[in-house]
This record gives sequence, C-alpha cells and structure tokens, in this order.
Amino acid sequence: MSEICTECLEGRLEPRSGEGRMFTYRRGSRYELPADFDVPTCSVCGAMFFDESLREAAKALLRPTYLADQRTHLTFLVETIREKAGVSNRDVERACGVTPTYLSHLLKGRKEASEPLMGLLEAFAIYPAEVHRRLQRESAHDTASVRMAVHAEEDIVWHEPVHVWSPAPEYDFDFDPANDVRAA
Ligand SMILES: [Zn+2]
Repeated sequence: MSEICTECLEGRLEPRSGEGRMFTYRRGSRYELPADFDVPTCSVCGAMFFDESLREAAKALLRPTYLADQRTHLTFLVETIREKAGVSNRDVERACGVTPTYLSHLLKGRKEASEPLMGLLEAFAIYPAEVHRRLQRESAHDTASVRMAVHAEEDIVWHEPVHVWSPAPEYDFDFDPANDVRAA
C-alpha cells in the first residue's frame, strides 16, 4: 500500500518519471530533472516528494549543470567588478574576505559559492565603490565609513525621480515681425 499524499490527502504516491519536471537546485536555480529519474509523485495532485537521499541524488545529477551556470554568472560578475572598480581578482578576493585562489576555484567551476558570497559579488558589481571602501579599511565593519557611504548613497541615488512638467511651447504662426508691437 503506497503512502497518502500530504498535499491533497486524496492521491497516493507512486514512483513517476517523465519530462518537464523542475527541481530547485538552490534558491534561484531550477533545472529539469532527467526524464528517467523516478520521484514519488501524487496520483491526484501531481506533487513530488523528495526525502534527503533522493534530494541528494537529484542534486548530484544536476550539479554539473549548476556549476556551469554558476561559472558563467561569476565570470560576468567578476569581470564587471574588475572593469567598473578597476581592481584585480586578488582585490576582489580581499574585498570579499576570502582566501587567495578561492575565487579561481569558483571561476573554474570546482566548488559551489555560498549564497552570501554570491550576493556580495552581485552587490559589488552594482556598487563598485563598495569594493574600494572595503579595500581601504582594515575592517569591513567600520561604522564611520559605513555611515558616510550610506548617507552619500542617500544623497545621490535614492531620491525619487523628479518629473518636471513643461508645457509645450506655444507658437504664434501669424506672427509678423513688421507688426510686432513689442519692437515699437
Ligand atoms: Zn496529492
């Protein structure tokens, strides 16, 4: 007797394979499961159920795909940071607080970047000035420089865009300079 589905409480779970089944590898990264990968699936609502070992098995199959995507994304981020901030890979590593060569392991697709590190690189790519602030300070937790940077950001970036309404210019198509009373 197969298990009852805890989603709809109607169907029963049976191993199912097939195309078009998406799996969340990690936040923001969803991939299609291999068509021959069996997952206990509800016969009524279609919900898929993964236990720890099945999840690990799916991740092992999809890891090369994820690492290739991560490599593309990280290469883009690091190139953007180097270009916008005018810094080296070593500077990026120092600004992130990771050990030398860590970035190159990631860029070669050898290991997974943590979500916080990925988030930091994304922020650096958008706000390259933050790379310099971190490189200039002994500690990234420098209260005074953080406050200055926050206030500078408030002054420059986060004002509501100002839309100035300007009326269309009015032209007097009958205007004749010879009859211009203002010239008199
Ligand atoms: Zn169900």
